[in-house]
Amino acid sequence: MRTVIKNGTVVTAIDTYKADVWIENGVIVAIANQGFANATADVTIDATGKFVMPGGIDGHTHLDMPFGGTTSSDDFQTGTLAAAHGGTTSIVDFAIQTKGEALRKGLDTWHAKAEGKAAIDYGFHMITTDVNDKTVEEMGSLVKDGVTSFKLFMAYPGVLYCDDGQILRAMQRARDIGGLICMHAENGIAIDVLVQQAVAAGHTEPKYHSLTRPQIAEAEGTHRALALAEMAGTPVYIVHLSAARALEKVVEARDAGLPAFAETCPQYLFCSYDDLERPGFEGAKYVCTPPMRPKEMQEDLWRGLRTNDLQVVSTDHCPFCMKGQKELGKDSFAKIPNGMPGIETRLYLLWDGGVRTGRISMNRFVEITSTSPAKIFGLYPRKGTVAVGADADLIVWDGEKEHVLSEKTLHMRVDYSPFEGKKVKGFASHVLSRGKVVVENGKYLGKAGDGRFVKRSTFSL
Ligand SMILES: [Zn+2]
Repeated sequence: MRTVIKNGTVVTAIDTYKADVWIENGVIVAIANQGFANATADVTIDATGKFVMPGGIDGHTHLDMPFGGTTSSDDFQTGTLAAAHGGTTSIVDFAIQTKGEALRKGLDTWHAKAEGKAAIDYGFHMITTDVNDKTVEEMGSLVKDGVTSFKLFMAYPGVLYCDDGQILRAMQRARDIGGLICMHAENGIAIDVLVQQAVAAGHTEPKYHSLTRPQIAEAEGTHRALALAEMAGTPVYIVHLSAARALEKVVEARDAGLPAFAETCPQYLFCSYDDLERPGFEGAKYVCTPPMRPKEMQEDLWRGLRTNDLQVVSTDHCPFCMKGQKELGKDSFAKIPNGMPGIETRLYLLWDGGVRTGRISMNRFVEITSTSPAKIFGLYPRKGTVAVGADADLIVWDGEKEHVLSEKTLHMRVDYSPFEGKKVKGFASHVLSRGKVVVENGKYLGKAGDGRFVKRSTFSL
């Protein structure tokens, strides 16, 4: 089976050039001057006037995840199908260790959730909630099985929280086995006090979710995560960075030559605290953690993306419906499930609001949505670029096609869109997963189970 994408402009994190891309058995086998190759193909995709780019890699999703007394509304079938529509061809989701149980048990649970359901390839990070002798030992066996990153929480005391000693131990072990620690960096102990005080004072509206999680709580957590990583002598990856002051800490560490990395998410680039103040209970749509920040902070994050102080944009896709889920917090912001949908809209938003506005180049767009996460999470060079020998996880991108973001037309299983009615330009006319066209002009051609678990390599940057 041979496929060719003809007459397009290939865009990688480095290069932009016109070429045909030839695919056999799911892998890119040739990138040729247009008109050069006379070989015949079983499938020909015409990419005239369009860009051929590596499919998106979303390193931060929560599908079918129990949280806050409910479960995120997309499972591995609906969530990965939505991702594919939006031009994302790999995700790294989070398996969770239950306190008192083995890492492996949590990982098996997530394998079972995903098995036979995914539209695109997927890997797992391991959320490590119980750092003890056994867990630390077991981390090595997970790395051998391609689960090479571990997420720790400084937030959510009593649920996901780890203390500094536990974090340090996990970091030391990660250093020795080539693992990467991903950190939710917020001072959850202090935040819980602020939340209790706000609730006691009768402050129950959604905006208090942000007001009880000040940016200093994120900056302090970020600084502490970086300090612990320095003590352990290991790289660290700060997830979903939202606050300018937290970014300053990352800049300081990187300037000192430390292997510090950080991602932000579209909701922090395109939404703000103002959305939490929407009338009635609508602000609940924008409750995620870390919370929405003042609008002017968006420019700090864009600057970070331009200058590589931030290396990645992933979604933290964690959708909850307004009906029956976000509603749980009708009487108190503290009970609103934390999370927003985004797995499908990341490339649209970043192309329209990033590339088209001149904030980032096309190449940087590819880098922050695909190449960098592939490198950081051990998927490169198999994924994350357009190169001979790489998986043919590709998108044919129409940079001019306009469409309207709406809950009615998007594929995520959630009853609202935070961007309802927003017009954007940029659309994947073809999405290929290992050479197979899974989405063509908005029509899904794949089937559940096309996507496979991907073993990731140890950290090496
Ligand atoms: Zn998350």
